[in-house]
Amino acid sequence: MDTPQDILRNLGLNPSSLTGGTLIARSPIDGAELARLHEHTVAQAHSAITRARQASLAWRDVPAPRRGELIRLLGETLRQHKRELGRLVSLEAGKILAEGEGEVQEMIDICDFAVGLSRQLYGLTIASERPGHRMMETWHPLGVVGVISAFNFPVAVWSWNAALALVCGNAVVWKPSEKTPLTALACQALFAQAAQRFGDAPAGLSEVLIGGREVGEALVDSHSVALVSATGSTRMGRQVGPRVAQRFGRVLLELGGNNAIIVGPTADLDMAARGIVFGAIGTAGQRCTTTRRLIVHESVADELVQRLHKAYASAPIGNPLDEGKLVGPLIDRVSFDAMQAALTAAREQGGKVTGGERVLADQYPDAWYVRPAIAEMPGQTDVVCHETFAPILYVMRYKEFGDALTMQNGVPQGLSSAIFTNDLREAETFLSAAGSDCGIANVNIGTSGAEIGGAFGGEKETGGGRESGSDSWRNYMRRATNTINYSRQLPLAQGIKFGE
Ligand code: NAD
Repeated sequence: MDTPQDILRNLGLNPSSLTGGTLIARSPIDGAELARLHEHTVAQAHSAITRARQASLAWRDVPAPRRGELIRLLGETLRQHKRELGRLVSLEAGKILAEGEGEVQEMIDICDFAVGLSRQLYGLTIASERPGHRMMETWHPLGVVGVISAFNFPVAVWSWNAALALVCGNAVVWKPSEKTPLTALACQALFAQAAQRFGDAPAGLSEVLIGGREVGEALVDSHSVALVSATGSTRMGRQVGPRVAQRFGRVLLELGGNNAIIVGPTADLDMAARGIVFGAIGTAGQRCTTTRRLIVHESVADELVQRLHKAYASAPIGNPLDEGKLVGPLIDRVSFDAMQAALTAAREQGGKVTGGERVLADQYPDAWYVRPAIAEMPGQTDVVCHETFAPILYVMRYKEFGDALTMQNGVPQGLSSAIFTNDLREAETFLSAAGSDCGIANVNIGTSGAEIGGAFGGEKETGGGRESGSDSWRNYMRRATNTINYSRQLPLAQGIKFGE
């Protein structure tokens, strides 16, 4: 079996960069140290931003389809290294192998999408009110795009941003989570391979900054960074958003979720149970789209909850590198403590809690495995309205569909939502303006596991940003409105006569 060192070497990382530094990379699987990395200083961060700025000036003149060629090569490199990079994601973030490789597949998918996009950065032609005039929109690169990412999607989030930002003509500076720096260095090494095959990509087109909040803040405050795309907790977004706004920079925020599934009286309970279990316990509850709330009609609640208890009791928890395991560890002790605090609060607020305890402590004393918890709540109490980044499913019952919708929308976050129903009226109401207030609203599919073709993001405290598919590329470009006069007159708009 490959050791972490084998994997890092195969991915092209320089062994000397993995020792002697101050940032200790650990695996949540067993707490083992993987590397000691050198952190960037704020001054080094500024140099990286300057290099990226220089690169962006050259890159913006490269025709977009040619820029797409670089991303095509990146996608090809990722295909070649899918297994190793997926395994490194598992090692560093604690995901099961299928999810680690799934994340790399998502990177490949967004590369394919971006390559197509590189020939489709369309602007409009607009009817002018003046004779002999033409109006149009052109889209230009922004310059430098800063990416701040969270630990739980350590590689996919970078690729969503980088693939689009690069075909749109920008350079990218990435500040990954301090909990997952190795996967970031691996991505940078793979990017370097693609750039080498491409031939004439400017140096500094993709930069990585290793470090914590201070380095992130350098990116946030730099006037040379036109867009800061930040993924993480709402707490982080509350700090980053106003700081970028202060200097009139652009910001794209992808923050916490508190995603609910409504199960109506006509729902297919087999499908609903599958969707809920995958959504609630997959990645040990550490996805932004994890199902955290179940809002179930009283007529089917007993049966559904019983099925969930059964599925939870047999869910294999353990080393995510082992075949057959479905639930890996929490990222660290802080996460475990937050989960325990939330469960205590749930009990105090009238909840009946099953599961949630630490498991496998003898085998992995330095890792944090838990049994996923189900908390049957008397209503949507305070604790239910917070995102606790761990596998806790709060269950609430309802009688009237309107009450279910009110509960679904009655939390500060607005990322993903779903309904399981065979009632057309319920389904359409859920998707209507008066229905779910989330950025993602699904019918007969769970909350978790979006495809890259759609725009991804959410409302309210989730931050309002959209990444990935659809027309999200527009976030990475600036729009210019152009009017061209090909007549021999100079008519003014709105019919204004001026000095004639
Ligand atoms: P976090 O907020 O602790 O950290 C995220 C990143 O922000 C890290 O790189 C961190 O170093 C950086 N950071 C923190 N404070 C900063 C500051 N003041 N200035 C600049 N950078 C700063 O989040 P986490 O624990 O790594 O990830 C979990 C959270 O991320 C959850 O809330 C989850 O819902 C959210 N998330 C959201 C999405 C989405 O698309 N909406 C996707 C993945 C994760």
